[in-house]
Amino acid sequence: MERVCLDCGARLLGRSDKKFCSDQCRNNYNNRLNRDQNNYVRNVHAQLRRNRKILADLFEVGHHRIHRDALFAQGYNFTFFTHMVETKERLRWSYCFEYGFRESGDGYLELTRSNAYLELLVEEEDS
Ligand SMILES: [Zn+2]
Repeated sequence: MERVCLDCGARLLGRSDKKFCSDQCRNNYNNRLNRDQNNYVRNVHAQLRRNRKILADLFEVGHHRIHRDALFAQGYNFTFFTHMVETKERLRWSYCFEYGFRESGDGYLELTRSNAYLELLVEEEDS
């Protein structure tokens, strides 16, 4: 079977484990791979920031309860969140950075803001 360079497609001669015809092609290929991964991170981060902004805008004007359809209509993407917190009372909060919400029945969400999780991390770093 003919083997070709993963970057430029040139025919490969020599060792059967060779993947590239040159160091230049290896570099091109790896740079492209890194860029794609960075795009992924950038896109996810943009979505997280958008979600956070939506929650923050609502919360900071005193809007602490919203129907999930209304949140969705504002562009909120429920797939992306930063962490989940379950309280002693077994309430499950889904957070986007310091803003979070929990289901409060009939499709309504209760909003909250908390730095508790971050403070916990900082304490652990100090000790
Ligand atoms: Zn090549």
